[in-house]
Amino acid sequence: MSDQVCCIRGDPASSMIGKRWFCGKHSQSATRERPHTWRISILLVVGLVVFVGIVYMLDLVLHPALTGAGLILAGVLLALVPAFIWLVFFYIQDRLEPEPKGYILGVFLLGALLASAVGIPLVDNIFHVSKWIYADTATTILGSILVVGFIQEFLKYAAVRYSVYPSAEFDEATDGVIYATAAGLGYATVLNIQFVIANGGVALGSSVIRMVVVALAQASFAGITGYFLGRARFEKKPWWWMPFGLSLAAVGNGLFNWLRGLIVQRGVSLTGASTNPWMGLVFASVVALFTLGLILWLIRRNIRTALAEK
Ligand SMILES: [Zn+2]
Repeated sequence: MSDQVCCIRGDPASSMIGKRWFCGKHSQSATRERPHTWRISILLVVGLVVFVGIVYMLDLVLHPALTGAGLILAGVLLALVPAFIWLVFFYIQDRLEPEPKGYILGVFLLGALLASAVGIPLVDNIFHVSKWIYADTATTILGSILVVGFIQEFLKYAAVRYSVYPSAEFDEATDGVIYATAAGLGYATVLNIQFVIANGGVALGSSVIRMVVVALAQASFAGITGYFLGRARFEKKPWWWMPFGLSLAAVGNGLFNWLRGLIVQRGVSLTGASTNPWMGLVFASVVALFTLGLILWLIRRNIRTALAEK
């Protein structure tokens, strides 16, 4: 047995779980349940909705007379808040269940970098998505999945797969979801900043709703990829495993984009200006909680099955 090495860092392995070898320390971390993750996720969604409510009310009551550079700056600052709130919640969770997570900020920044250097230029300047995607329903659905969905989800996947994934910092069953969510929020933050700048500043009250919707959606669908990444790291999986996971995330991403358009207004507008943005927020919150809940439940079930077979 001693000639086998642990799949996390190459130490001598002592046990096999899911057809992979682990040392004593990493067989524990790979099967660790994080009972706080679900509670923190619910609090996080509530926190984001409260944030939207506060900004919306302030905008309504105070009517801040912002124009030009001031308006753009205020929009950019607002765009940073969802990721900031997530980080705060993440570190609260980390205090309850301490675990070094040195790469969290790095993966977040990598997601942001890939969005601005690759994702947005591809969608806007190579595929010119805004010129054709709302031509008809079939085009909207297929374009949202096959072009926008796959580009976004692949880049968020890459931000995790080619950074923290091979390292010893990726050693828990929930790490795939946590790191992928960080990449998703990095991506969302850049999308939101780009939206503010492209419009030369935005109405703060209504655009803050859009920002949180984008953050929730990008984080949720990245979470699906993260689940598949996590299981690929700790178990032997067939060649189609990761392409399948990425496709699920891309389909979810595309369908969400299309359905949100239907829910928020008749006919979709690229600027996100909409007749009922609150319905979009409700939809995004439900999708985020459902997706995260399902993922965390699957992880827990998988851990228990692996432990039972050990
Ligand atoms: Zn090990």
